[in-house]
Amino acid sequence: MEISFAEALKNHKPLEEYPKSDLHVHAGRGGSQEFIMERTGKRIKSRCSPFMSLEDMQLWFEEEIKSSCRGMEGYLLRLEGAFARAAEEHIKVLCMEFGYGELVQLGKIQNFIRLTETFRKKYCPDTIFCPELAIGWECHAEEALRQLEELLPYHWICSLDLCNRELAQPVKNFVPLYRTAKANGLCLRAHAGEFGTAEDVREAVEVLELDEVQHGIAAAASPQTMYFLKDNHICLNLCPTSNIILGRSGDYKTYPIRLFYDYGVPVTINTDDMLIFNSSVSREYRMLYDSGCMKPEELDTIRQFGLRKGLRMNLLI
Ligand SMILES: [Zn+2]
Repeated sequence: MEISFAEALKNHKPLEEYPKSDLHVHAGRGGSQEFIMERTGKRIKSRCSPFMSLEDMQLWFEEEIKSSCRGMEGYLLRLEGAFARAAEEHIKVLCMEFGYGELVQLGKIQNFIRLTETFRKKYCPDTIFCPELAIGWECHAEEALRQLEELLPYHWICSLDLCNRELAQPVKNFVPLYRTAKANGLCLRAHAGEFGTAEDVREAVEVLELDEVQHGIAAAASPQTMYFLKDNHICLNLCPTSNIILGRSGDYKTYPIRLFYDYGVPVTINTDDMLIFNSSVSREYRMLYDSGCMKPEELDTIRQFGLRKGLRMNLLI
């Protein structure tokens, strides 16, 4: 690399070659639309208007993406696309979340672990891969605990997340699940403050003893919550384009990363569902700079923080 990341931002140079992390990726939705179009021959029309809800988003995903890559074969193509994308834009730390149903679709869990390792070795052998177990907020908490306990002996997953319909049931229902994950050294995360409030973010962190929050943007409405996150070193794994397209945030210029950074809340920049939102990590950095939201040096600090965080997670595996 001839110039620094900050200089590349300032001079409008491509950012793909600079090492980055992506710590918030839903498996099967983490690749590029180009990869799917190349492999299936079907044209995908990128979504320009905001989604009204998660259901609206899911409907678009079914019609526009899944219609050309259905079933297990289609899922594996999308998963392969996520690793191919990581290689293309030098994602050196890749946290990818899987539901239990995804992990058992090839029969034995070992088969699925082997397959992801094949993709990693093929596309991005130098990338630190941190698989995550994703549990739906709406799930049966006892069943989720059974699933976690089944997975732990493989020493494969690095973290636990709660996703989908935020606050579908009281946070306290997940305490046994999170205590077990903590006792086994997993990084504890949950989607909170994407659709909920600042108080919901704080409650999820306190009750589940979270290390990180997926999104957490509602915390920007409360200085107390931001100080709480800063003082307890709770990182927010932000996904700007996802929040904007889902109508959770206005635009890049007013995106609350500015506020979090100024309050000293640790943040990372991620993609969430690149196959849907059609925005790479490189583009996320680009938009935050071009909009005037963040300075190049600040974005570089965040980039390096994400890489260090991933390295620490890797040491825990
Ligand atoms: Zn997410």
